[in-house]
Amino acid sequence: MYSKTLKDIKHLINEDPKKIIITSHKNPDGDAVGSSLGLYGFLKSLGHNVEIIVPNRFPGFLEWIPNSNLINIYQNDLTKCDELISKADIIFSLDYNAFHRTGIMNDVLLNAKAIKILIDHHLSPTQDFNLLYSNTNVSSTCELVYNLIESFDLVTISKEIATALFVGIMTDTGSFSFSCNNPRTFIIVSKLIEHGIDIKEINQHVYHTNSENRTRLLGFCLSERLKVLKQEKTAYIYLSKEDLTKYNYQIGDTEGIVNYALAIQGVQLAALFSEKDGLIRISFRSKSTFDVNEFARKHFDGGGHKNAAGGNSKLSLIETLEKFESILK
Ligand code: MN
Repeated sequence: MYSKTLKDIKHLINEDPKKIIITSHKNPDGDAVGSSLGLYGFLKSLGHNVEIIVPNRFPGFLEWIPNSNLINIYQNDLTKCDELISKADIIFSLDYNAFHRTGIMNDVLLNAKAIKILIDHHLSPTQDFNLLYSNTNVSSTCELVYNLIESFDLVTISKEIATALFVGIMTDTGSFSFSCNNPRTFIIVSKLIEHGIDIKEINQHVYHTNSENRTRLLGFCLSERLKVLKQEKTAYIYLSKEDLTKYNYQIGDTEGIVNYALAIQGVQLAALFSEKDGLIRISFRSKSTFDVNEFARKHFDGGGHKNAAGGNSKLSLIETLEKFESILK
């Protein structure tokens, strides 16, 4: 199935120029933006007419990636984006497994007449796609996009494409600390180095561009908003709307903070609760066998991977924390 589908996708994009839309999930992360830009560069080189559309803005630490300025933000230009989607021959869905993960783009994508192709590494993709290249045993969607590109003969991978793909692999593995215990990930990285990426430069762009506010927000989280439940082997951090406003919260500022809770000795489950967009957004992380994908699906209307998942709660922040603690007990 794996190679058959890859072959079918390859066949489809190897024909005459087409109108192609690349989409990714709400609150796009490094893998969403990196895989979109990597595939974008490749499809352009094949002569296609390509546009990327993401539901809402992506974090500033990804804004330096070549061509990221060409990404359409659906929320900011509904009319243009709806028209692009309605005229598309092919829609790619990258780094998500169900259209509802795109939030406000759900309906327009579901109803689009285009051929829908999923390339993704999350569990349980829905049946809404015509072609599926889904594999949960890889580090990232960027790895799958690399496989697709590599399946073409005589293809040249530009430094720009290689850089975008590396960003996704690096960020989705927490700088090569999980989801990458697999030679293939490192073989791909070694190829990307051959294609000219500068790992030091990429690292500095992604990890060394924190605002002073973000750094102080991290300090505040750790000293004032961290709760450790020793018996439950759990640690969590919570941020109210007021907390976020106080530190002039920008998209991406809470990225990675949950990992500080997980890094405490003995902690098996970590969570970050933050009050955003009128609800409580939750990031779950776990060590070893605790399955946060299942936990988030069952209790918090979310999902993701076994050791990293997200969820939502419509309760108040305090009620959400109470619910979380009572489930643990
Ligand atoms: Mn991903």
